[in-house]
Amino acid sequence: MNSDARPRTPVPPSRLPDVGTTIFTVMSALAARHGAVNLGQGFPDFDCDAGLVDAVTAAMRAGHNQYPPMAGVPALRQALAAKIERLHGHSYDPDSEITITAGATQAILTAVLAFVHPGDEVIVLEPCYDSYGPAVALAGGRLVRVPLDPQSFRIDFDRLAAALTPRTRALIVNTPHNPTGTAWTEDDRRTLAELLRPTDVIVLSDEVYEHTVFDGRRHASVSGDAELAARSLVISSFGKTFHVTGWKVGHVAAPRPLMAEFRKVHQFNVFTVNTPMQHGLAAWLADPAHYEGLADFYQRKRDRFRAGLQAATRFELLPCAGSYFQCVDYGRISPLPDQAFCEWLTTEAGVAAIPLSAFTAAAPSRPVVRFCFAKTDATLDEALRRLARL
Ligand code: PMP
Ligand code: GLN
Repeated sequence: MNSDARPRTPVPPSRLPDVGTTIFTVMSALAARHGAVNLGQGFPDFDCDAGLVDAVTAAMRAGHNQYPPMAGVPALRQALAAKIERLHGHSYDPDSEITITAGATQAILTAVLAFVHPGDEVIVLEPCYDSYGPAVALAGGRLVRVPLDPQSFRIDFDRLAAALTPRTRALIVNTPHNPTGTAWTEDDRRTLAELLRPTDVIVLSDEVYEHTVFDGRRHASVSGDAELAARSLVISSFGKTFHVTGWKVGHVAAPRPLMAEFRKVHQFNVFTVNTPMQHGLAAWLADPAHYEGLADFYQRKRDRFRAGLQAATRFELLPCAGSYFQCVDYGRISPLPDQAFCEWLTTEAGVAAIPLSAFTAAAPSRPVVRFCFAKTDATLDEALRRLARL
């Protein structure tokens, strides 16, 4: 056939030229190909509570199968407002200040698109979750990377202060933190509130691990500080709280003027989110026991996994105050860079992990990888058996 007659696919310049497939997808595929225990991508390998599935099924059978209101099912927004008020003492109006989203990822992108104008600066604290940078790029914003303290992975407030300029539109924060497992203290929160006081910076606070804070500590939500709450969008996800990462239902709470702008974008982004899931989640939230036990549940897994790593492997453990991630220094085991080490670990040792460099622009100063311990005890024990051979 004459090549001129071939239909032509025009390929415009990429909006995200530096982005490939996410490391989570890549490592899960590699783990599947090699039969490795997958402690890479962050998701539970056990099922959610059958009662939650029943609640969603009941909602479908009751005919809740058409579009819900744009902001989300009122019962779910009301349940969330009551929960936030009880836990953090801040009152959000369910009608005008809470919106249900298709997971936290959509909430973050929608928030960035709603507030970031081309040329605006957006600060992220590295290492950070991999969706923040591309979201800022899509909005035409300028990403400003401020490293967390390389030893403690806590906020370096001096560096953060130095990065603030009159062009700073937003700061994206995350506590408990993926990948490092740090969790803010109330002092961290207060210091941030004071630092931002003279500015017009908006805070996007990614709190998807809000119910996974260990050792009796409380989650320091930005909603618990009146000053920060006034300038923040608080983002979370039911995926982490109820072991349903595949449902992709999350939520955002913010003061009315910020939420009004958020919704302008949300309504043309997804418009609304899965109706029966929202009804089921509203019913499930009615019993606080369904999320209050989560920290203890994951603390037991953290302790089991850490004890095993400590006793039988040459990894050096970093602290883990929250989230379901355990970072380790592998310097005693291998000289490989972290991505190559993760590939080797998956194919040769049969355990998948995520390299710290997936969360940073520059190569990290320490050889660190992240393991996810949201797994059955049997999965964790099998991973430990394999890691003990290294
Ligand atoms: N933020 C962080 C810090 C996460 O770890 C994740 C997912 N693991 C998300 C956002 C995305 O959450 P969702 O699956 O609800 O989009
Ligand atoms: N947030 C999960 C993690 O950090 C993965 C989500 C994803 O695959 N994009 O592992």
